[in-house]
Amino acid sequence: MKRVYSAEHGLMTEHIKDVLQEEGINCMIKNLNLAGGLGEIPPIECWPEVWILEDEDYDRANSIVEDLLKEPGEYRTSWLCQCGEKIEGQFTDCWSCGAARG
Ligand SMILES: [Zn+2]
Repeated sequence: MKRVYSAEHGLMTEHIKDVLQEEGINCMIKNLNLAGGLGEIPPIECWPEVWILEDEDYDRANSIVEDLLKEPGEYRTSWLCQCGEKIEGQFTDCWSCGAARG
């Protein structure tokens, strides 16, 4: 087992786990239930972490995680253009009127 990612917020770890699993990499999240909890634990100790189960997947998992982190917050969140079209999150421009994501 190897850790490929940890973060303060569980949302990104969930997303990374989902993407890794879509890529066929066995992985799991540790510490998710501790996040935001107990004052006696130093915060970084209870950050949720993504672990892969097979060490041989580590390099691939790492590059997938790096790609995901390049555009934080932009993944898969669809957005509404000024022209009224609903645009999928991977597009930064409206396919209908050409306006940039605002
Ligand atoms: Zn538009």
